[in-house]
Parts: sequence; C-alpha cells; structure tokens
Amino acid sequence: MNRSLTSRFAWKRRLNGVLNWIFPSDATTCAICGRPAFTVGASSHWPSQSENSRLCAFCVQDLERCQVAVEQHALQVENAPDRRIDVYSGIDYDAFVRTLFRSFKYDGVIELAPFFAHVLFACWQALDEFACDCIVPVPTAADRIRKRGYDHVRLLAERLAGHVQLPVRPALLRVPRGGAFTQSQTAKNAELRRRELAGVFVPNSRRPIVGRRALLLDDVATTGATLAACANALFASGANSVIAIVAARVR
Ligand SMILES: [Zn+2]
Repeated sequence: MNRSLTSRFAWKRRLNGVLNWIFPSDATTCAICGRPAFTVGASSHWPSQSENSRLCAFCVQDLERCQVAVEQHALQVENAPDRRIDVYSGIDYDAFVRTLFRSFKYDGVIELAPFFAHVLFACWQALDEFACDCIVPVPTAADRIRKRGYDHVRLLAERLAGHVQLPVRPALLRVPRGGAFTQSQTAKNAELRRRELAGVFVPNSRRPIVGRRALLLDDVATTGATLAACANALFASGANSVIAIVAARVR
C-alpha cells in the first residue's frame, strides 16, 4: 500500500472504484470545477493520468496550458547567517494554481499528483545530476494526514522518486504544537512564521541524514520559513547539503 495514503482513504477510493464499475456512468463531476467530467485520456504533458480521471476537459486543458518556468532563488537558513540554500520553483501561485492546490490538499483530488510531480520533475532537471542523493519531504502534521486521508507532500515525493531514481528519506518529523499551530500559514508574515516554527521540525532518528545530500521537497513556498526551518534541522543533524524544490512559489 502507498505509504502516503491512510488505509481508510485508500479503501474509500477502492470502494468508489468498485461502485463506478458496478454502476458505470458516462459523466461524473469534475473534482476541480464541478462541471461534467467525461473520462479523459492520458495527457502528453504528464504521465499516469488516471483513466477514470475526475477532471473535466476544460480543467485538463487549463493544466496543459499552465506554464512551467523553473526559477531559482536563495533562501537564508535560520541560525546560520552565512548559510543559504537554493530553492527551485516551477509555477506561479496564481488563482488557477491556488484552486488546484486547494483541491489537491483539502478535497482529496490526488489525481493532481502527476501534474505537480511533473512540475517538480522540471525543477529537478535544473539541478546538477549528482546534486542530491535522497528526497526529504517536508513533514505534514499528523492530525492533517488523519483528517485528509493522505500526506500530499509525501505523495509528491514518492511520485518524483519514481522518475528520478532517488530514495524518499523521511528524515524529519513534525512535532505537534496544538490546534492553533497547525492552522494555515498563508496569511502569516515571515517573522511570525519563523518564530512559530522554532523546534517544530526534528530529526527522525530512524532515518539519519548524516553525510547525505538532501533534496528538500514541499508543495508551495509562501514565506520560505518552513523550508528554512527544515533545512536548518537537516544541517543540524549532519546533512552535507540541502537544495529545496517546490511546485509553486507565492510572490
Ligand atoms: Zn473542471
């Protein structure tokens, strides 16, 4: 079983698949926009598009039009003034992409994973071939995984790993900090966010990162504070180098 899905979520999807097989219908509803979604074939732009996609032709077309233009910027890592990491992002966080992320993160539309993995793959292609030797997903809070039924970042890490032949190494754990902490971060300013994240990401003793060249992976970078806190924790636990990739970056 895919480790990025909870067993409850995986069974629910299997059950839906069986129900669709018993009671086939020509049209279902698009998981993104709610319009009728006819089954669409595989896209030439990203692999493994599900045959029973719940996306409509309009949204698939919008996805195909979504421009991937890899950008790089330097990010200051906490507690090390001279230490910066390179962050690569593939798409802008515009209104359409925001809708995609909402569907992917909160509404169970894991059909979007191949699209975001395709964006992350473009970021990976911008790196030196041997720059990294493992993929470290930014850990998602356990309560969110339970609530949603899947770990969306881990899902992307595993999908990218299949394309680039690198192992996924969950080298970080996220320490729970109570209800207020796990609320959405998008609107918070960088300094507040940085203070909140102090001590939240800790090394996973079962997956040591000593001497490794980590490719830190997240879905979206907003203030950059999450990536900085994770990179800091990776360096503190002995990582040789850290490079970050995110599908989208908020400007
Ligand atoms: Zn649609």
